[in-house]
This record gives sequence, structure tokens and C-alpha cells, in this order.
Amino acid sequence: MSKAIRIHTYGGPEVMRWEDVPTPEPGPGEVLVKHAAVGLNYIDVYFRTGLYKAPSMPVTPGMEGAGTVAAVGTGVTEFAVGDRVAYGTGTPGAYCTMRAVPAERLLKLPDSIDFNTAAAMMLQGLTAQYLLKRTYKVQAGDTIVMHAAAGGVGLIACQWAKHLGAKVIGVVSTEAKAELARANGCAHTVIGHANLAAEVKKITGGAMVPVVYDSVGKDTFMASLDCLRPLGLMVSFGNASGPVTGLDVGVLAAKGSLYLTRPTLATYAAKREDLVAMAADLFGVVASGAVKIAVNQTFPLSDAGAAHVALESRQTTGSTVLIP
Ligand code: NDP
Repeated sequence: MSKAIRIHTYGGPEVMRWEDVPTPEPGPGEVLVKHAAVGLNYIDVYFRTGLYKAPSMPVTPGMEGAGTVAAVGTGVTEFAVGDRVAYGTGTPGAYCTMRAVPAERLLKLPDSIDFNTAAAMMLQGLTAQYLLKRTYKVQAGDTIVMHAAAGGVGLIACQWAKHLGAKVIGVVSTEAKAELARANGCAHTVIGHANLAAEVKKITGGAMVPVVYDSVGKDTFMASLDCLRPLGLMVSFGNASGPVTGLDVGVLAAKGSLYLTRPTLATYAAKREDLVAMAADLFGVVASGAVKIAVNQTFPLSDAGAAHVALESRQTTGSTVLIP
């Protein structure tokens, strides 16, 4: 037997139960991973509340983990027992001690990256990678807006964007988070979104920005559109405040022939070759020190509910890791 957090019905953090489960056997093409660390991500909240639906119940949440290969299924040639591995894409199921993971989603960890760092950076770092390199190709000299700049994706993306030569305007909710964001790549910070467009106008001398990365959703969507220059790109990539609904597309015309995308890591990392290239890019910026991974909170995996409370009440900064 092994242990897993399971959800039998959607709801608050209290629906997560720490239960005995049979240790999975790795099927064909699968690798059994003994987790040393599990990553906490906002998407875990969406699967717990039912905003995103699980294929069946009970469900074990969690998209990201790091650990050691304990067994391999038939047909697996890339991994062997004892390998240090990590993953951050695929289906929910990571809040457990032992997990069978498709080899196709797994990556070998460089020796320089410890398990906690790996569990903190795979999903959020791969997200920063595609957002900055593919959804919009950030260029040296660009000024960009990044919401939740002191969060998990935020701290990684702000450092990485600065490394690419961009000037980052980070949006946060408190002065303490603003300070942290400035220490992690933000040239400017704005607290709250009430006067965001006016602040961006001041900072850019009226030019506004070519791209806004908005993971907050409902509360900030319209304020974000107002920060864009004509033909600018609105990247709406999350729903921390709730999903954006009921958009009148005419608003994109009225605000300057804007582009809008709602990207997901799942699409960008769907092909194995893309996942491998994205991870190599991420491992490279972390190894070089250009991007530092801030594991600012750890919780026992058995107490994942407390981690969700902290994340949803905006008490966390950077990344959070759950320890089995
Ligand atoms: P964060 O660490 O960024 O935590 C969420 C942050 O959002 C909070 O700390 C808070 O920062 C801000 N926030 C603003 N409004 C609210 C609200 N009403 N309730 C809670 N938080 C709020 O989380 P992650 O790094 O895990 O994820 C960031 C976002 O990116 C999420 O929306 C997530 O879904 C999305 N995401 C999307 C991916 C994709 O491919 N599309 C992949 C990965 C993440 P503050 O207090 O400063 O406002």
C-alpha cells in the first residue's frame, strides 16, 4: 500500500483526505515514481473545487512531482530504476507517495537540481517558458505587464523576462509582494489593478505595452486590455479570481484591434519533443542562475488542505512544495 490525497466530492480544502491506496503497478510505457516532493499549483485548486472537472471520482489532485524511479513498465527504455526524475504535465494524480507516470511525460533531472526545486519549478517554469518564448516572443527592450508577479509562475517569469532583456511591470496585492517582485526581475511594480492602465501609461510614456500576461482572470481582465497598445496581445492564462466569461469580442476592436489568447501548458507541451526542448531551456536558465527557484513554503503532503488555504488566501509567494 501507499498513501494519497483523494477527493470524493468537489468542495473546500477539507474535502482532501489522506488515504491508504494500493501502490500502482507501472503499465506498458509507464514508470513508477517514488515521490520525494510534489508541487502545489493553482490548477490543483480548480480540480478540487470542480471548476475543472476530473474524469472520474475519487480523484487525486496534483500535476507535478519529483523523485526516484522505483520500477519501469514494459517498453520503457529511456528510464531505469534509481533515476532522478520529475514531471509537470499530464493528468491529475500527483498528491501521493507512489505514482505510475507515462514515460512520455517524464524528464531526467540534472544533478544540480534537487527534488524540492524540481517539484517547485516544472509546471510553473515550463509555463513561463512557453509564455515568454512562444505565446509572445519577448524581445530585449520590450516592456511587459505580469500579473501575480510575486506568485509561483510570476517570480519565475519575471526573472526570465528580465534575463531576456525586458522591462517587467509586475502587478501584486501588497507592498511586501512588490518588494519581492522587484528583487526578482520587476523594473516596476503596481499594487492592485484599480489604476493599472494609468500607471502603465506613466511608466511607458503613453506607449502602453505589447503584451499583458494575466493569470488573475475575472477581476483584472478589462484592466489588462486597457494596458495594451494597438494590436497588443492579451494572454489570459489563469483564473485565480474566477474565470472570464461573457466577453463581447467587439471590445477587442474598440480597444485597438487587440489579440486575445487563452493558452495552456498542456497544448504547448503536448508533443514529447516540445516538452524536452522546453525543459532543457528551463534547466539551462536555472543552472546558469539567471532564474532562481524560490521554494518559499513547504507543507506535509498529508496536510495539503493547509497548503490550499494558504494559496487561495494569497498568503504564499513563489513556489510551494508538498513533502510526502
Ligand atoms: P500563484 O502563486 O501565482 O498564486 C495565485 C496568485 O494570484 C496569488 O498569490 C495572488 O497574488 C493572485 N490573485 C489575484 N486575485 C486573486 C484571488 N481572488 N484569489 C487568489 N489569488 C489571487 O499561483 P500559480 O503560480 O500556481 O499560478 C498562477 C496562475 O497561473 C493561476 O491562475 C494558474 O491557474 C495559472 N497557470 C496557468 C497555466 C497555463 O498554462 N495556462 C499553467 C500554470 C499556471 P496577489 O496577492 O499578488 O494578487
